[in-house]
Amino acid sequence: MTTVPFFDLSAAQASLTADLESAAREVIASGWFILGRQLESFEQDFAAYCGVDHVIGVASGLDALILVLRAWKQQGRLQAGDGVVVAANTFIATIIAIQEAGLKPILVEPDPATCNLSVRGLTSALSQKPKAVVPVHLHGQLCPMPGIMEICRRENILVLEDSAQAHGAILEGKRAGSFGHAAGFSFYPTKNLGALGDCGAIATNDAEFTKLLRSLRNYGSERKYINNHQGLNSRLDEIQAAFLKAKLPHLDTDNAARRSVATRYMNGIRNADIRLPTVSAGAESHVWHLFVVHCADRDALARHLSDHGIQTAIHYPVAPHRQECFQSLLGGLSLPVTETLHDECLSLPMSPVLTEEQVEHVITAVNAYNASATLHQVANG
Ligand SMILES: *Cc1c(COP(=O)(O)O)cnc(C)c1O
Repeated sequence: MTTVPFFDLSAAQASLTADLESAAREVIASGWFILGRQLESFEQDFAAYCGVDHVIGVASGLDALILVLRAWKQQGRLQAGDGVVVAANTFIATIIAIQEAGLKPILVEPDPATCNLSVRGLTSALSQKPKAVVPVHLHGQLCPMPGIMEICRRENILVLEDSAQAHGAILEGKRAGSFGHAAGFSFYPTKNLGALGDCGAIATNDAEFTKLLRSLRNYGSERKYINNHQGLNSRLDEIQAAFLKAKLPHLDTDNAARRSVATRYMNGIRNADIRLPTVSAGAESHVWHLFVVHCADRDALARHLSDHGIQTAIHYPVAPHRQECFQSLLGGLSLPVTETLHDECLSLPMSPVLTEEQVEHVITAVNAYNASATLHQVANG
């Protein structure tokens, strides 16, 4: 039987083994491991790729978001307790970052079709006088950024794009991370651009802000042992920067390969019990970090696919406001659109290295899923 892993990381980087080994050897030979020329060089390459003036490497995607919000407070552009709008169905890190920075998350329902923050969702939160918004480009699809930016310019709201799932996505000629006042990226190994460990980055066009962020990621010091701010230790290691520099030139090819898998799924899957993803703008506005379908009995669909050798995943099984850690903060909220999305979502295998045979196998198995047959079996014990 054809088996299909959800995401085979070794296969995904097999063709780059020699490049990664030589990148590692170069760093080892240099004897310089933190804040050196590998990082500077990757920061320049990634800034040019994203179409922004500055990139600041940090230790994780979560830290990228926390550091931007803390830096805005440091600059007096945000005050403790200010409201920050975010779609309620995001990955937990986005909400943790807002909390960790001493700000107040304002959760809004996403557009159920795209799973992203909509102009309408943002507008509905304006009565709460938010000072910032974090549009999350979930699953790899850009939020409607032109409309969001128009509102935010008018209302004087700061915009931090959570671009952790959308490296390279393009809308109206601009890439993810180049729309807002700042953006956070993650290079967690399975992201569209992934390192061989944890790290992340901030993108921005603001030179003063960049200076502050470079200081904050390094204990708040610009000159060694002279601390102007209370910062963090959140640096992107030289060895990871060297790996990322080797992988960046392949990002567009990888995203195109993901897009071709997605197109085959979109054209091949025909099942009234399964809702396919919605692409709201041009094909390039989605880089398919995940291919998420929705199904009333998501668990039955997952079992059916598993019986056919197909591994799936759930992003994410529990909505942030339903998580134990946020019960006192957010537990009182009722967000039916979000809750349904979390109950019904299932991520199909997606990576740049799925074979034609594997994709066909997934399509055939998904099309063979019969919700009423499953219910019948359950009814008959
Ligand atoms: C992965 C991810 C993060 C956090 O990135 P880490 O590098 O794991 O800290 C933040 N937001 C979203 C939407 C993510 O997918």
